[in-house]
Formats: sequence, C-alpha cells, structure tokens
Amino acid sequence: MENMAVGVFASIDAGLGVKLEVVRDLGIKTIQLHTPAKASRTPENAKAFLEKLNDYGITTTVVFLGFEGESYETIAKAAETVGFVPAATREARLQEAREIADFAKLLGVEAIGSHIGFVPHDVESEDYKGMVAAIQNYCDYLKQNGQRLHLETGQEQAENLLAFLETVNRDNIFINFDPANLILYGMGAPIESLKKVAKYVRSCHCKDAVATAGQPGVDWGTEVPFGQGQVDAKLFLQTLKDIGYTGPLTIEREIPEEPERQKAEIGQALELIESIKKSLI
Ligand code: MG
Repeated sequence: MENMAVGVFASIDAGLGVKLEVVRDLGIKTIQLHTPAKASRTPENAKAFLEKLNDYGITTTVVFLGFEGESYETIAKAAETVGFVPAATREARLQEAREIADFAKLLGVEAIGSHIGFVPHDVESEDYKGMVAAIQNYCDYLKQNGQRLHLETGQEQAENLLAFLETVNRDNIFINFDPANLILYGMGAPIESLKKVAKYVRSCHCKDAVATAGQPGVDWGTEVPFGQGQVDAKLFLQTLKDIGYTGPLTIEREIPEEPERQKAEIGQALELIESIKKSLI
C-alpha cells in the first residue's frame, strides 16, 4: 500500500460509514470497516465480502468495534454507554469483541479499532481496574490472532490516554487518532495532542469539527467537512508526516442520513487530501 493512502470509513449494514459502492465510485482504495451486525458475521459473508473487496481493489485496514446499546446522543450519554465502560455489559461486549476480531481475521485484517469509552480518572477505582483488565485481556486475545488494538481518540485528554496505555502495558495496543473528536468532546487541541501521543499512532481519521459555543466537555461540538473546521487539515497531515506516520488517511464523515451530501463531501475531502499531500515537506 502506498504511503498515506487515502481511505474512507465504510459500513456494510451497521454504523455511520459509506457503502462499498460509494468507495468504489470515488476511486478510494482503502477502508476502515464498521463491524457488520452480529447476524452478518459469518464465514460465508466474510468470503463474499472479501471477493467484492478484491473485485473493487479495496483493502480493509481496520475493523471497528460497535455494540448494541451505545448512544452518542449527548456526551454524558456516551460516557455512560460506550465501549467497555459499563460494568454490566463489559464481559458480554468483551466476548463479542473477540468474535469481531475473529471475523476481521477472516477478512485478513490485522487491526481492531475501538472507542473503548471514557476511561475513569480515579486509577484506584474498581471501574478503572476493570477497564484495564478488560483491555489487557482483549489485547492478549488479539495477539494470538496476530492483531493489534487501535484506540480511537477523543474521549480522553492526551495525557490520560498515555497513562492508560502505559498501565495496560501491551505491545499490540496503539492509537487511531481522530483530531475532530478532541474538538467535539472538548478534550484538547488536536495537533498538540497528536504530538504527545505520536509514538502510538498507527491509523487516523481525517475528520473536522468546530468547538461548541456552549460548555466544552458537556455540549457537543459540530462535525463539519474535512478542511472546514478547526483541525487545520494541512498542519494535521504535515504533523503526521513529521512524526513518521505512513499509514492510511481515512476520511470519516458521519452523516449517513444524507448519503448524497456524504458522498460529495467525501469526494471533496479526497481532493483536498491529495492536493495537501503534494505540498507536504
Ligand atoms: Mg473517528
């Protein structure tokens, strides 16, 4: 795969990504895939999907976890429901995450992406210890599959994320850096944060946002097309290059309710990224 190949976040039957046909029409060659719904994760479907990908010349670089019951309606709701944070569903989700990893393995995918959820800040709490144990357990499972875990950024400040990674202490845990999420969640400046977590970054989202006019960390910011928000698209890509990043640049535009607009804006992001890439020093 070429250095910094453009990608897009895609979905088959669940999640906010674009359909595979849209990826093909845009001429994009890499995707991150939101995990298909449980009923679709069969070996037969994996085979059929892989054949389609091969026909289109598309490579899947990351499969993203997603669970029933997660809600991004408000930041508070996300904190309560997302990832491995809710203790009541932690074991069941861990088991499902293993099954998703096995499905990803059938697709030949070596990285699993995840919003693991808001990591508790009290490192002595049972919730924190439970999260650490769950992620260690999952990393060990992925290791047997020859896979890595890429944590999605946004729900933590860079320092807290780094501390968590160091506590988990596994050699197959990395970061999927989403600069817009830091703005959306009010968790710090994207470029400064990227520099802080640089050594862990193995995948990223080209997504943009404008900070809330209300209370950061309580009220959502607003997602906007890549290049039109506060990320500073050019500086973002230059900084990725500066830290030695060579992985895909995966466009994420989460407006599945408007598919035509979603496709058009992803097309514009693609052009923007290709033109910025030529100007990188
Ligand atoms: Mg993202």
